Amino acid sequence: MGADKFKSLDNNLVSEIPNNHNSKKSINKTLKRAYIESYGCQMNFADSEVVASILIKDGYSITKKLDEASLILVNTCSIREKAENTVRKRLEYFESIKEKNSKITVGVMGCMAERLKKKFLEEEKIVDLVVGPDAYKDIPRLLQEVENENEAVNVLLSKDETYGDISPIRLNSNGISAFVSITRGCDNMCTFCVVPFTRGRERSRDPKSILNEIEDLKYKGYKEVTLLGQNVDSYLWYGGGLKKDFKKATSIQRKTALRFHNLLSIVAEAFPKIRIRFSTSNPQDMSIKVIKIMAKYENICNYIHLPVQSGSNRILKKMNRKHTIKEYFQLIDSIREILPECGISHDMIAGFPTETIQDHQDTLKLMDYVKYDFGFMFAYSERPGTMAAKKINDNIDEKIKKKRLNEIIKKQQKHSLYRTKQYLGKIVCVLIEKVSKRSEYFWSGRTQQNTVVVFPKENYKPGDFVDVKIKSCTSATLIGKAIKISNRI
Ligand code: SF4
Repeated sequence: MGADKFKSLDNNLVSEIPNNHNSKKSINKTLKRAYIESYGCQMNFADSEVVASILIKDGYSITKKLDEASLILVNTCSIREKAENTVRKRLEYFESIKEKNSKITVGVMGCMAERLKKKFLEEEKIVDLVVGPDAYKDIPRLLQEVENENEAVNVLLSKDETYGDISPIRLNSNGISAFVSITRGCDNMCTFCVVPFTRGRERSRDPKSILNEIEDLKYKGYKEVTLLGQNVDSYLWYGGGLKKDFKKATSIQRKTALRFHNLLSIVAEAFPKIRIRFSTSNPQDMSIKVIKIMAKYENICNYIHLPVQSGSNRILKKMNRKHTIKEYFQLIDSIREILPECGISHDMIAGFPTETIQDHQDTLKLMDYVKYDFGFMFAYSERPGTMAAKKINDNIDEKIKKKRLNEIIKKQQKHSLYRTKQYLGKIVCVLIEKVSKRSEYFWSGRTQQNTVVVFPKENYKPGDFVDVKIKSCTSATLIGKAIKISNRI
């Protein structure tokens, strides 16, 4: 899963979520107000919604106003150095706020908290509390420790925690689409990635709790859910526990085990009027069964985010990505054959250690083969504690990394325009999500292929599925005119 895609959104949208758990605490409501700021990947944003629910149960209300907060929680990302620097800058800013009100508690959670652990308290004096991605249920006790002026750190990784028993409070939602996490952790050990160290081993969530959460979202009028995990394709439910322990499962557990394609069809069948998306896939774990299930159900969106990271077999090996370029092309070919209209996006790293000009050319050649709809592209950033940091010298000059990254971005822009131009004159089904950034007279929404479409508002409203005729486009956006409410989704 790539990060940085989503900067801090949550506090713009949330009105104060009152705590009505018990009357005595509500008297202190004004004192217990939490302000949550999230960085990084969708998983972090989904986790912040779980934390909001835990805090409300503990007598807090969630506020979007920093100056009202008695608790500031930052959900941190560690995927690149830049992400960590962003968090440190924010903590500097919070320091100025704490100088004015020393009663404020500042806590850090997420991957950087897990990576640094207790060291975070030493490096950032303003921080009172450090909690890792698997220990959020312990936040109320940690807050008590802060109040008692004791050290408040819990970075234990879990073998079975999935927060399946927590109903998330939707923080950064438009009331139309929501994230539903289905797995936690990752076993893949890509050499550049910190996630296996900060989020632990893979475990899957009970399908019943996933269905309950979507049922609740449907009841609240949501029209789209994204099934979320670092690596959704390796979803495996056999009654709970780590994926790696499946080999110890009983024969009954094996027979009744649910894999990702099973879960996908169960969700699609149960909620025919809701759009289903999923993220993130890993080419080495994705099965043709998933692609066939996507073709079977109209409500499973015709879109796959399929990170590849490099077009060179030699570099893929050094990244410990367990597939070849030939296998990746075969997967792309199967997608194109079974789902001809499928939108495909990628993650790409430029300048991985030892990358030669030829390796870089192989990456550009791969992009020419796939012609992705869009992608998330970054220069390699060495992460402390990863296999690459331990074993491979980061020997590509920053200038070269930048130059290669720009070439990749330029090529992607060309391909994105090639893809959006395919829609000119066509009618697409769009789910309206919000007002367009371009104009307050325009709605913005997405196609099943995850392409953004903007069009004049007329009498339509957010949550409507609308047929839109595409008139023009940029490399990132389709511009059109609404025709009617769609009978598709
Ligand atoms: S699949 Fe690789 S890149 Fe993705 S979270 Fe797992 S280790 Fe990181």
